[in-house]
Amino acid sequence: MNISITINIEGIVQGVGFRPFICNLANSLNIKGRVCNDSRGVEIVAEGSESLLSEFIELIKSKKPIKSEITLFEVRRDSKLRGYEDFSICKSKISHISSAIVPVDSTICQNCLNEIRDKRDRRFDYPFVNCTDCGPRYTIIKSLPYDRKNSSMDSFVMCPSCQREYEDSSSRRFHAQPNSCPKCGPKLTLYKSDNRVLATNIEALDMCAKLLKQGSIVAIKGVGGFALVCSSKKSATIKSLRARKRRASKPFAVMFRSIYEIKKCTIMSEDEERLILSYERPIVLLKKRKSHRLEKFCISSEKIAPKIDRLGVILPYSPLHVLIMDRVKIPLVFTSANISGTPIVKSKEELKERLFGVYDFYLDYDRDILHSIDDSVACINSKNPLLLRRARGFAPCSFALKGSFLDEVLCVGALQKSAISLCKNGTIALFPYIGDLGEVQSNDYFEKSIYLALELYRVSPKVVVCDLHSGYYSAKWAMEFAKSRDIELLQIEHHYAHALSLMCEHKIESEILCITWDGTGLGSDGTIWGGEFLEVGELGFSRVGHIDRFKLLGGESSIKEPKRVGLSILIDIYGDEIFNLNAPFMKNFSDDELKVLYKMHNNSINSPLCSSIGRLFDGVCAILGILIKPTYEGEAGLMLESLYDESIDKWYDFKIEDGVIYYKSIFKELLYERDIELAATKFINTLAYIVYEFAKDRDLPCGLSGGVFQNMTLCRKIASLFEKDGMKLFQHSKIPCNDSGISVGQAYYCYLRDKKEKRCEMN
Ligand code: ZN
Ligand code: ZN
Ligand code: FE
Repeated sequence: MNISITINIEGIVQGVGFRPFICNLANSLNIKGRVCNDSRGVEIVAEGSESLLSEFIELIKSKKPIKSEITLFEVRRDSKLRGYEDFSICKSKISHISSAIVPVDSTICQNCLNEIRDKRDRRFDYPFVNCTDCGPRYTIIKSLPYDRKNSSMDSFVMCPSCQREYEDSSSRRFHAQPNSCPKCGPKLTLYKSDNRVLATNIEALDMCAKLLKQGSIVAIKGVGGFALVCSSKKSATIKSLRARKRRASKPFAVMFRSIYEIKKCTIMSEDEERLILSYERPIVLLKKRKSHRLEKFCISSEKIAPKIDRLGVILPYSPLHVLIMDRVKIPLVFTSANISGTPIVKSKEELKERLFGVYDFYLDYDRDILHSIDDSVACINSKNPLLLRRARGFAPCSFALKGSFLDEVLCVGALQKSAISLCKNGTIALFPYIGDLGEVQSNDYFEKSIYLALELYRVSPKVVVCDLHSGYYSAKWAMEFAKSRDIELLQIEHHYAHALSLMCEHKIESEILCITWDGTGLGSDGTIWGGEFLEVGELGFSRVGHIDRFKLLGGESSIKEPKRVGLSILIDIYGDEIFNLNAPFMKNFSDDELKVLYKMHNNSINSPLCSSIGRLFDGVCAILGILIKPTYEGEAGLMLESLYDESIDKWYDFKIEDGVIYYKSIFKELLYERDIELAATKFINTLAYIVYEFAKDRDLPCGLSGGVFQNMTLCRKIASLFEKDGMKLFQHSKIPCNDSGISVGQAYYCYLRDKKEKRCEMN
């Protein structure tokens, strides 16, 4: 006897080929009914014998499309049969509660790749090929459910051949929403910077490749925005890109044609290889090979990533990139089209407005990018990927929790590397990396991201969470927002939020000792923190330790002039003896400068106290004379890592008393150190031993969070010390340890708070 059931599935089930999969599966089992997207996910009505239907359910779970993820699977028996004659995909149903997860943009799949390289295929050389397994998603979505008419493909009408594929359940393009071909899809146009059209479609590809090889800088519209692209072999071009983009030495990423070519330039583990080849296609940070080998393949590695031993590499991820790489056949410098820290440019109008003069040509196409998104950045930290920037391919994403939130919440994160999160039901949704707030464009993008997120997820927050630092743009925005909507405002201490983000990643709800080290954040005692040891309980934390504080001479200007950090600590050690010091480092100061800074220090004029490890890194580099003017965040750490020698297990003396770590005597030794590699190694080892010594007598699981732990060398050293003693160490992987993870920590606070509240009600 036949029965009818309704199945509701939630999770990542839209834009990943889920409905075609269901339809094919049902047909193969001779099950009748229908499937459609709704705003929660997918709804299936299936009719057949009880045994067939249970087989159907099992197969859905075990054979689901690779990129799908099921967070909820509900089966209900219907009261009566509707008597379907076949199995079909029907129109999306829209209801008011949306919990469907927005699908992410996906790298070109092998089948599509074969087609664009096959001369006989109708999509040969077609830069916008896609199928149910691959193509743009988040960047072209207007609203959910994910259907063609709700995307920026709605202005393109499918030709009869494409329409046939779209309707044919045996086709790879069955219900592939952005389906198109050279006849009916988006068109490519190459322009000169003065907006003159030079070529279209295939001619545009050919000409673009030629220009790149000749040494031009071309802005190329990719999946989430434009990238500035040029030859990696022409140092003069790279130099002019740096000058035009006003980016002195911050490393550029390089796009390679194949993994084989990447291996010629870098040293790569199997885990790193897997990450580079993954569907998400992030930029992966690898160790460079010795420069003479590099020069042969990727000539200007010193121009691309000056003075550091890392190289960010990426493989082509969109069909357009593949076709360009196939033509140029050399690695290309590949960097987001933006001014550092601001969001990536997504239209030609923005390009002209914000980056005119930076590029010589631009390659555009006529499908709109509705939401810009940057490339993701990741590396491998002892076998596990560590996401440094969660963007294209990885975001938006959601983390399921064991309980659920009492109210819907909006979390706005911190200031730099901004990213926002939403809380609804039992999940935290993290949105793509925004950039550093402060600039008008970033602030605008921040606000747009919030309204987009609220709309896509149909959230109307009852609580808004921000950083304790009321001067942050995000915090000011949150205060206004709370006031205008008359909802609760919560401010969470920065390092506590870092710790919470780590706890969220590992679903930790009980006590943990979290070492939170970063650049700067406002502590709950009003001073600047950044070298903290926090014991985090069920709800709340206590600061059980921190590094001995020092004065930031001139406050913020110490970040731009790290020699001030070095000097400040030397004054702590030597007092007025500083004027008699005869070390090379002291030559960085004129007599007058020294007098002024000494006075600032002595009288505490504009010299806030801080305990930041990030600043300490700067100070060490300054004293060693390797970094006088940093031009990007994290530069000091990267430089010291480049000098690190794994075979040396020496460190400097330090002392821990009442939770305070005394280390300043290190600077005395650094002052006269001639072996820079030894000094860098000993310094990093010292930090690792500090963590280890602090943690080892406390009977608590231990974790690392904060931007400093982007330093893989330091993480590895700490992990090895812990491992020797069989001590547990929690580290970040999916949630960035830097400030992009802060909003998740803020969200997790609300989760723990709600949980506690519910428990109280029960008692
Ligand atoms: Zn495909
Ligand atoms: Zn077509
Ligand atoms: Fe931070």
